[in-house]
Amino acid sequence: MASLFAHVEVAAPIEVFALTAKYNEDKFQDKVNLGVGAYRTDEGKPWVLPVVRQAEIQMANDATLNHEYLPVAGLPTYREAAARLLLGEGHKALVENRVEGVQTLGGTGAIRLAAEFLKQFLNKSVVYVSKPTWGNHKGIFKAAGYAKIEEYRYWDDANRCLNLSGMLEDLKGAPENAVVILHTCAHNPTGTDPTQDQWKEIIQVCQDKKIFMLMDCAYQGFASGDLDKDAFPVRYMAEQGIEFFVAQSFSKNFGLYNERIGNLAMITNNPDMKLRVRTQCELIVRKIWSNPSNHGARIVATVLNNQAYYEEWKQQVKTMANRIQLMRQLLYEKLRSLGTPGTWEHIIKQIGMFSFTGLSVRQVEHMINHHHIYLLKEGRINMCALTTKNVEYVANAINDSVKSF
Ligand code: PLP
Repeated sequence: MASLFAHVEVAAPIEVFALTAKYNEDKFQDKVNLGVGAYRTDEGKPWVLPVVRQAEIQMANDATLNHEYLPVAGLPTYREAAARLLLGEGHKALVENRVEGVQTLGGTGAIRLAAEFLKQFLNKSVVYVSKPTWGNHKGIFKAAGYAKIEEYRYWDDANRCLNLSGMLEDLKGAPENAVVILHTCAHNPTGTDPTQDQWKEIIQVCQDKKIFMLMDCAYQGFASGDLDKDAFPVRYMAEQGIEFFVAQSFSKNFGLYNERIGNLAMITNNPDMKLRVRTQCELIVRKIWSNPSNHGARIVATVLNNQAYYEEWKQQVKTMANRIQLMRQLLYEKLRSLGTPGTWEHIIKQIGMFSFTGLSVRQVEHMINHHHIYLLKEGRINMCALTTKNVEYVANAINDSVKSF
């Protein structure tokens, strides 16, 4: 029988999920998945943070909790705690009561909500994303109806570092109705962030050009292991009285990937604005997901609002950041000891979850097809997926791929 859907084409696979599916099908014993951006222990297993477990047990035993709808803007104790974590206790912007937050479906939901709000109320129609960037930025803004998706230079491929002059030049060329997405820390996929002085220059250019800054903060704590240090650009901007948004995600630093927990923090320069931005966001949310879910928000609020839990969590974030650092060092040393052609210092210089290896598409294909090591074709690897047991195997495979092509 003819179907109404016969003209609907099968969609192109989403690379990172297709890669995981391929990895799952692979029967090879020593296979490694360096694709998906999720933390793994040294046993190669997902990690439920012990403090998250504790919070969940406490929640399960709390007879006062129920499954009523949350407010459209989300759990108030969560939104306040998220803003405090971002800006730091006692930050001027918090004291001056000019920060608002709306709970979202992960960092992705925060970015989408920002895109909708900025289009509707600030008349934005152009977005600038870094080249390269997280695979979903362009798609989210496209889906929100932006007419132009532009790229600013970010990565200097030849020198494997930030291309600051290219970035500034491109931002200076952006029109006034532009939004720019800046990665707060642990840039995905390059693992390369601006220094504090470079941040000041970038922010100044955006201010001069009246470009709206949307900070994507998906990795607070993952870059340096220090939650305060990683929030530098956001705290600096808020001190200057700049108005901007931050898409926060707790997927990585709480390991709450499938709970879809994020927050759109809106930093205004005047307390009167808070009610306006929040209530308009509520109307947008009402039409997209209506209400946010409870579990992830409750976990984050329970941990961040309890001093003892908070201290434990900080240590657990450090544990993750330190393990990544160690894997960077081990991979680098193995590649050097193998005499792998090329320079590999960028592996230890880069920070956060990812390393932008510089492997070519052919070399990546060789890694997948010949060595059963799965990674994105842009050459990004998830450093957390390396372990003391598999790092040698991965280094040998990189060595072979680089020498083969
Ligand atoms: N922004 C960046 C740079 C990311 O890497 C990710 C996730 O990988 C996100 C946003 C989205 O985070 P979430 O899973 O919380 O939606």
